[in-house]
Amino acid sequence: MGSRKDEEFLNGHRLKPESLMMSYGYNPQWSEGAIKCPIFQTSTFVFESAEDGKAFFEVAYGLREQDPDEDLGLIYSRLNNPDLEILEDRLTLWDDAEAAAMFESGMAAISTIMFQFLRPGDYVLHSEPVYGGTDYLLNHVLPNFDIKPVGFRAGSSQEEIREIMDGVEEERQLGMVYIETPANPTNEMIDIEKCAEIAHEHKTEEKEVPMVVDNTFLGPLFQHPLKHDADLVIYSATKFIGGHSDIIAGVCLGSEKLINKVQTLRTIFGTMGGPWTGWLTMRSLETLKLRMTQQVDNAKYIADFLSVHPKVDKVHYLDLLEEGDPQYDIYQKQCDEPGAIVSFEIDGGEKEAFKFLNSLELIHLAVSLGGTESLAEHPATMTHSDIEPDEQRRMGITDNMVRLSIGVENKKDLVEDLKQAFEQV
Ligand SMILES: *Cc1c(COP(=O)(O)O)cnc(C)c1O
Repeated sequence: MGSRKDEEFLNGHRLKPESLMMSYGYNPQWSEGAIKCPIFQTSTFVFESAEDGKAFFEVAYGLREQDPDEDLGLIYSRLNNPDLEILEDRLTLWDDAEAAAMFESGMAAISTIMFQFLRPGDYVLHSEPVYGGTDYLLNHVLPNFDIKPVGFRAGSSQEEIREIMDGVEEERQLGMVYIETPANPTNEMIDIEKCAEIAHEHKTEEKEVPMVVDNTFLGPLFQHPLKHDADLVIYSATKFIGGHSDIIAGVCLGSEKLINKVQTLRTIFGTMGGPWTGWLTMRSLETLKLRMTQQVDNAKYIADFLSVHPKVDKVHYLDLLEEGDPQYDIYQKQCDEPGAIVSFEIDGGEKEAFKFLNSLELIHLAVSLGGTESLAEHPATMTHSDIEPDEQRRMGITDNMVRLSIGVENKKDLVEDLKQAFEQV
């Protein structure tokens, strides 16, 4: 589909992503004037000539370089599909990335990049805690391929991370640095630039050693890891990007060179998103900024309410970090807004936390996050239950911790619900 950089400018003025989400990369002339991009529910595409088919395959299989103004032709929906390509073009705008690859889930994106860049004998340096599925992949799947996970706790300094690496450097090669910041559910920050330094010191001619950030919690609006030297950004688009708790999807963004590699393995694994997922995600992108802006505004209000509530011991929310805390400095450097995930410790233990959760009425008791409706859950026994209790404590996941994902409801209504639930405890 060629470069569409010119579409980003109006009268020499660079348009903001939210202005481009309704139109970018799509021409109504292609589809009978339809203002919305149709769902291209098709497995294969008809070539205009055998010569075209040959040319498309040459580029798709890397048999020759694509000419600068040559369109990558449509071949088969495991390789490419308009709903995916247009969506990918739109997604690059938020993170100012060269390229994007869309997947049928966040886990499809994560597993595809790990298998693309890791080799037997490697180790992956990763933050802890990470998302449950990622944790399983690191600790129970990759070791079968002689790839060792080496974790460091979110909040560790670069010196502490280097000490952990000292123990493994002799026998293994660093293959990837993988972090989640802020961490789930504690909202602990990790310095992306410091981790990127480590990854890039290990990079060689033959080995990429990409610095990967799972930016699901704050992105793509409030944190831009590629601007802090990360090589790849991944999202569970199931969360804020999809935003309506009705799809499972994933994205990976980065340079053209790395994304081409990721797309090659995506074609072979078949982990690409389908046209319907692509179309729904495009629909969601139109309101992304509206939703996330409202969600963060609501979350700040709720965090303030919680921070002075007598039945709350501690609130874990980025807006409440204080000057002098090293976490505050990372937050200031890396993020524009604190996001919509608020965790807190209720006075008591599991019993009190459960009583509180069972008493909520407007806020739903469910895992997942980032949707229009507010959700609450108990990390120790739900999202993070497969982590040993001792490990949980080490990571700061306590029995009395509740995680909230704040939606777009009226903030006073949400506080009313929290208030009455505390009264039941
Ligand atoms: C949900 C989530 C994932 C996994 O995404 P799926 O779309 O469920 O496969 C990965 N990372 C984070 C931080 C998540 O919240």
